[in-house]
Amino acid sequence: ALRAPAAIFGEKRRNSKGFDLSDRGVLAAIETERTKPLQTAHPLTVSDPSGAEKPVTNPATGEVVGTVVEADPATVARALADARVWDAPAPERAAVLERAADLFEENFGILFAILAKEAGKTLPDAVGELREAVDFLRYYAREGEDVSRGPRGIIAAISPWNFPLAIFTGQISAALMAGNAVLCKPAEQTPLVAFKAVELLHEAGIPKSALQLLTGRGSVVGQAITADPRVKGVVFTGSTDTAQRIARTIAENLAPGTPLIAETGGLNAMIVDSTALTEQAVRDVVASSFQSAGQRCSALRCLYLQEDTAPHVIEMIKGAMDELVIGDPWLLPTDVGPVIDADACDEIAAYIANNANAVLHQVDVPGGGFFVPPTMLRVDGIADLEREIFGPVLHVATFKARELDRVVEAINSRGFGLTFGLHTRIDSRVQQIAEAIRVGNIYVNRNQIGAVVGSQPFGGEGLSGTGPKAGGPLYLPRFFAPDPAPAGA
Ligand code: GLU
Repeated sequence: ALRAPAAIFGEKRRNSKGFDLSDRGVLAAIETERTKPLQTAHPLTVSDPSGAEKPVTNPATGEVVGTVVEADPATVARALADARVWDAPAPERAAVLERAADLFEENFGILFAILAKEAGKTLPDAVGELREAVDFLRYYAREGEDVSRGPRGIIAAISPWNFPLAIFTGQISAALMAGNAVLCKPAEQTPLVAFKAVELLHEAGIPKSALQLLTGRGSVVGQAITADPRVKGVVFTGSTDTAQRIARTIAENLAPGTPLIAETGGLNAMIVDSTALTEQAVRDVVASSFQSAGQRCSALRCLYLQEDTAPHVIEMIKGAMDELVIGDPWLLPTDVGPVIDADACDEIAAYIANNANAVLHQVDVPGGGFFVPPTMLRVDGIADLEREIFGPVLHVATFKARELDRVVEAINSRGFGLTFGLHTRIDSRVQQIAEAIRVGNIYVNRNQIGAVVGSQPFGGEGLSGTGPKAGGPLYLPRFFAPDPAPAGA
C-alpha cells in the first residue's frame, strides 16, 4: 500500500456554502420535504432498465420510505454496452461539475430529507455530507480543468451507505472529470439519495452514456461490473473483506494493471496523555466515537488514556455520554441517530452483549428503530479488538507514561492505518508520535473525523486502503489513462 503523507494538524476548514440550521428558510425547505410521500429510485441508464422492485426502509423507524428497482443482469449488460467516455473538453467538463454543485446546493431540502429518511442521518450530519459532496465536485473540477490527458475508459464506482451522497459523488466526480464513462453502484441500503444525485448530475449536463446509475445488489451489479474486461478501473469504499474480494475479481477478469482505488475500514486509536486539556479531549473523544452513530471509517475505536488521569477522564466521558440526545434524526437537538439497518443493529448489540462484563458505561436508546446504545467498553489494548465494530462502541485502555512506545507499536501492529488522534500539550511528543504512527490521517488536539476536501486529503494505508487519498491532489490523476497524451492531441 502507499505510504501516504501523514500529519495534518489544525482546525477544520470549510470551503463550501454552509446551511444554517437556525435559519427559518432552511428549516422550512427541509420541513416541506419531510411530509412528502414515498421516494422512488431505479437504474438511470441509456437503455430502459428492468429489475425487481424492493422497499427502502427508514432505519430510525423501520418504516418503508421508498422503493427501488434493482438492476437485473440484462440491465447491467446493456449499461456496459451503452457506456461512452465523456469527450467534452476539460474546461467544459469542469463547468458542468460546477453547475452540478450549484444544483446540489439548490436542492438541499430534498437531499437532507432523503439522507435523514433513508440513511438515518442527523440534520448536522446531512449538512456536512452535502457540503462534502459539493466540495468534491468543485475540487476535482478545479484540479482537472487544465489537464489535457485522456480517460481510462469505463470506471466502475461502488460506494458505501455511510456517506451515500458525499463518497458517492466524490468517486463519480473524479472519474468524470477525467473524461471516463462511469457505471456507479450505490449501497443497497441507500439508493434514493444516489438516484436524486444522478438526476441532478444529468440535469447539469453530464451525458447519460457517460454516467449510468445501477441501483441493485452487490452480487449482481457489483460482481458484473468488476468482472467485465471493458471496465478499466474500479473505485470502491466499503469493508476490507469486500475490497479483497474485488481485488481478486479484478485480477481474474480484467486487464493486468487495472487500478483498484479502495478505501476501507480501520481500527482507529487515540492517545490522551496526562498533559491534555481534559474538557477538550472529552469533547473530541465523544464526537470521534459517537457522532454519526460511530458509522464512519474514521471513527475512534480504541482510546488510550494515561493512567494518572484516566479515572477522571472516564468519569467525564460518562457524563458527556449521558448528555447525548439519541433519537429521531429529524429533530434538531439529536446528536446520535440509528445505525443503518436491522442486521447492523443485531450484530453490534450481540457484540456488546458478548462483552457485557467489560461495559464501563452505556446510555439508553428509544425503541422502534435500529438504535444501538452508545457504549464504552474496557479493554487492555487494541489487540483485544477482534474486528472493526461499525457503530457507537468505544473501547478504552490505559497506559503508563513509560509504555507510550509500546502503545504506538501495538496500534501499528494491527495492520490498519486510517486515522489517529493525539491529545497532548508536549510539542516534542507530537513530533515523535506523528513520525512513528503509520496512518493516513493524524489529528492533534481535535477530533479525528470530518476530513475536509482539499485541506485534509483522506485515506489510509495497510488494510485501510490503497490510496491515493480522496480530496487530495494525487486522487484525480489516477483516473486518467496511464500515459499523458502528446501536447495538442
Ligand atoms: N471522510 C470521513 C471522515 O473524515 C470518513 C469517510 C468514511 O467513513 O468512509 O470522517
